[in-house]
Amino acid sequence: MFVYADNAATTSVSKTALDAMMPYLTTNYGNPSSLYSFAQEVTEDVAKARADIAACIGATPREIYFTSGGSEADNQAIISAAKAGEKKGKKHIISTKFEHHAVLHTLNKLKKEGWDVTLLDVHEDGVVRLEDLEKAIREDTCLVTIMFANNEIGTVQPIKEIGALCRSKGIPFHTDAVQAAGHMAIDVNDMNIDMLSLSGHKFHAPKGIGALYVKRSIPLFNLIEGGAQERGKRGGTENVAGIVAMAAALKESCSQMEENTAKIIPMRDKLFAELSKIPHSKINGSLEHHVPGTVNMCFEGIEGESLLLMLDAYGICASSGSACTSGSLDPSHVLLSIGLPHEVAHGSLRLSIGEYNTMEEIDHIIEVVPQVVEKLRNMSPVWDELQKGQRPHII
Ligand SMILES: *Cc1c(COP(=O)(O)O)cnc(C)c1O
Repeated sequence: MFVYADNAATTSVSKTALDAMMPYLTTNYGNPSSLYSFAQEVTEDVAKARADIAACIGATPREIYFTSGGSEADNQAIISAAKAGEKKGKKHIISTKFEHHAVLHTLNKLKKEGWDVTLLDVHEDGVVRLEDLEKAIREDTCLVTIMFANNEIGTVQPIKEIGALCRSKGIPFHTDAVQAAGHMAIDVNDMNIDMLSLSGHKFHAPKGIGALYVKRSIPLFNLIEGGAQERGKRGGTENVAGIVAMAAALKESCSQMEENTAKIIPMRDKLFAELSKIPHSKINGSLEHHVPGTVNMCFEGIEGESLLLMLDAYGICASSGSACTSGSLDPSHVLLSIGLPHEVAHGSLRLSIGEYNTMEEIDHIIEVVPQVVEKLRNMSPVWDELQKGQRPHII
């Protein structure tokens, strides 16, 4: 049995998205910047896609800028706000320790260029505290960037309250909503969001297309110079097929959100309930404030990498840490940020399921994971020491 349980890394392209994009890869190949009517139809379709995406998050079409994905949207939002802050003599940015690397590495770059960056602690439940944010705010804070939902542990932040606090202090607020868009209801006005990043391939559109929402009153600077596309804020011929597919996928995900959530939650709950019967296992973060599909657990005494390889042999695609850090032997910065000791953070498993998964697949995972954990523990010198009482159990 093949089970794809890594939807937080990427998703399959839906039939709706594929059907929507096909004409632009075949017959409707005009460049939206061209003046003849053959291309002008494409221009209109891009405008319609922009309006559809705006409507899904409660924005206006003028506030949507297409990018190459979530990473570029994060980079542009942060660098733009940093530059706007610098003009006013403000060079302090607040974020959290468990952001995606698209955010953390951009902040590192700014730090080297003289910005001061405060990274808030994330508590054991994987949720940032408002008091911590309030204490960190300074006169010279020019940006707060806090992710909507975490990509490794799935925890959701109090975005509306964070936005309200930032607005009361006159500080722009950006959120990386790549894991939330298409999976949770988002209203940028109601939630006091000034900038928001999303990425198509996390909700069944193709890879390489994303969008940045920027509230009208917020200045936006270019990352990519070029033509006058995206109202002069992002040069480069539009990825028309990607844009149209992303709009179709987001529209579908948003219109089916309730049904999808109702389908995913029982699968996730069963997964968690059964896997937590494994002795010395623990959920990372909490399931209380959470995206529907992601479960991240750790199992003491084993290596996450070996677990993944063995699951692969049973046809199960899962992940430990994020796709971007796998391949390196460092434990995930997200798991360390919620206080997991290194040795436990190494033994973690992220299963991220979506509406295309079935209960039969969940049953397969539930059957395989306990066997594999036991097998690995039997081979593990660390587990042996734990069993003999030569080292204390942490979980
Ligand atoms: C996947 C992801 C990104 C990166 O998006 P790309 O479109 O792959 O560049 C950024 N942030 C989060 C939280 C993600 O999950």
